[in-house]
Amino acid sequence: MGRKFFVGGNWKCNGTSEEVKKIVALLNEAEVPSEDVVEVVVSPPYVFLPFVKNLLRADFHVAAQNCWVKKGGAFTGEISAEMLVNLGIPWVILGHSERRALLNESNEFVGDKTAYALSQGLKVIACVGETLEQREAGSTISVVAAQTKAIAEKVSDWTNIVVAYEPVWAIGTGKVASPAQAQEVHFELRKWIKENVGADVAGSVRIIYGGSVNGANSKELAGQPDIDGFLVGGASLKPEFVDIIKSAT
Ligand code: PGA
Repeated sequence: MGRKFFVGGNWKCNGTSEEVKKIVALLNEAEVPSEDVVEVVVSPPYVFLPFVKNLLRADFHVAAQNCWVKKGGAFTGEISAEMLVNLGIPWVILGHSERRALLNESNEFVGDKTAYALSQGLKVIACVGETLEQREAGSTISVVAAQTKAIAEKVSDWTNIVVAYEPVWAIGTGKVASPAQAQEVHFELRKWIKENVGADVAGSVRIIYGGSVNGANSKELAGQPDIDGFLVGGASLKPEFVDIIKSAT
């Protein structure tokens, strides 16, 4: 069975209400392949989520950029999975490398968050990826496998997970992984999933690439057999995001 192409736009901590309106207008006017061919999910900062959800075309969906690890309560500054569900937000990005690095989110914490978000009915874009030092030390696959294992230990149903492979050295740097470099990790990760989770999951789970994807490099990356889409940061705030969506075909 085919894996539907997936394009996520991670707006990170960017935007004013005026800018957000402009991006949504651009997306709403864009002519892109149908929802049967490509799943498009944009992830604005929390404060703009309901606003974007209400204005955005019906064939595109929204994601939060994070959520709390368990049921809400006395956790100042956090947003719970229940709240996202209550607002009709279908997706959440978890384990982004910026949160792993800057907020010390461990593999176990990301695994726990993923399991809790899924248990509440959210769909999860779970991010993994190695640093430059780890790549140079030859430990890319073991790092990515350990991050994935921490999720696999807490989760049994992978239907609502998309895995985003995002090498840290490629994020926001303009240094995109070559199609061959990305394909190699996606292939190895799928193999790891086959051996440690199961052949069905390995065949059906979407593994998307993130890290300096733009309108010029997306087509070639999309042509790799194990790359099932993208998680796009910087370029998701620009008109070229539409070209990235079109690379699905
Ligand atoms: P980038 O970010 O496209 O700006 O490199 C990707 C991401 O962090 O998801």
